[in-house]
Amino acid sequence: MHGSASRKTLSSTKTTATSSKAGKPASGDTLPDQILRALRKVLPDPQRTYALHEPQFKGQELNYVKDCIETSMVSSVGAYVNKFERMLEEYTGAKHAIAVVNGTCGLHMALKLAGVQSGDEVLVPALTFVASANAVTYCGATPHFVDSEEPTLGVDPEKLQAYLEKDTESRSGFRVNRKTGKVIRAMLPMHAFGHPARLKELMKVAQDFQIALVEDAAESIGSFYHGQHTGTFGLLGVLSFNGNKTITTGGGGAILTNDPELARRAKHLTTTAKIPHAWEYRHDEIGYNYRMPNLNAALGCAQLEQLPAFLKAKQKLHGLYQKAFREIEGVALFSQSARCQSNFWLQTLILQRGRERELEPILEKLHEQKILARPAWTPLHQIAPFQSFPYMDLQTTENLAQRILNLPSSATLGT
Ligand SMILES: *Cc1c(COP(=O)(O)O)cnc(C)c1O
Repeated sequence: MHGSASRKTLSSTKTTATSSKAGKPASGDTLPDQILRALRKVLPDPQRTYALHEPQFKGQELNYVKDCIETSMVSSVGAYVNKFERMLEEYTGAKHAIAVVNGTCGLHMALKLAGVQSGDEVLVPALTFVASANAVTYCGATPHFVDSEEPTLGVDPEKLQAYLEKDTESRSGFRVNRKTGKVIRAMLPMHAFGHPARLKELMKVAQDFQIALVEDAAESIGSFYHGQHTGTFGLLGVLSFNGNKTITTGGGGAILTNDPELARRAKHLTTTAKIPHAWEYRHDEIGYNYRMPNLNAALGCAQLEQLPAFLKAKQKLHGLYQKAFREIEGVALFSQSARCQSNFWLQTLILQRGRERELEPILEKLHEQKILARPAWTPLHQIAPFQSFPYMDLQTTENLAQRILNLPSSATLGT
């Protein structure tokens, strides 16, 4: 098994060495008090608001954006889109990268290109951002929610395999959900908070059950699984460059694939399916206007140049949090699995089982102090638009969602 959240070695009595501001002995402190005190070692300024994740623009951003404006290449034509795509290919090792207006539409296109059609089902973790499931519905398909595991926070491959064996069957080369009669066309594992899911095992499940694998790598630029960049394992993978992600283009995303034909189709579909011609408007299918504007790509080039520095700062921040939380009983800082390199997009504390009720008071306390920590997403099968869709047993997801606390994680905090 892969490693999980870091272990505690010492008992809570250690924390009695320091006293709270009110002069109470620390041993009488509540968990929210202890967490706040630990956080103040890393986030020391009580006047400051600590956002969950903020971008940093200290490279060539202004120069490249200025260049777009001065040459009036701000929109769908310009050199930065190509440049950004080639830089992404070089960094991720994907053979092809196609820049798009956001991660959500990238997922829409990737699923469509993987063959997802109206009436299909797509396996989606219930523990993900709503965009994963939204993109499935844009294809006319329905999300089918699957459980995640505690060691990686990603889809649990063994549990998924057992479920597929029991509740689905093979019909003329397709995997069909016995209950709904629908074809399970694809699975969309997601690398939660930047931590790689168990891709090797998930790819085996996908292969065994003839299900296409598309990676929602929206949170994981800079994360590697067994030395290979996330988003490059599936038939296609999708990155996001939204303002709260590790690097940002304002809004933006990219589709990654190693298949030249899928790459050609992705570019064509996301640029209105226009047949190249100097003046004629001819389109050979219904396309989409999903191309990333040059202005955003210019920002992206500047941000990508700084990615190694951001990753280093985020790694350092992880070390600072590790040190601060080492002696707090009842919580563990989530760390990376063996042979995986996480980008530590978000730093995550996991409350011990049995302490679920303390999550809310912790969030209240931290927000009072302008430390804008966040819980995990509400599991998607529990929110109104998705309540009627199929799901497997989701015990781990439901429990994890009550124990996850994401901490301020900006690269600036580690520099
Ligand atoms: C951010 C995110 C997306 C969507 O990306 P946008 O660029 O905001 O559309 C999709 N999936 C996950 C898991 C995300 O975190």
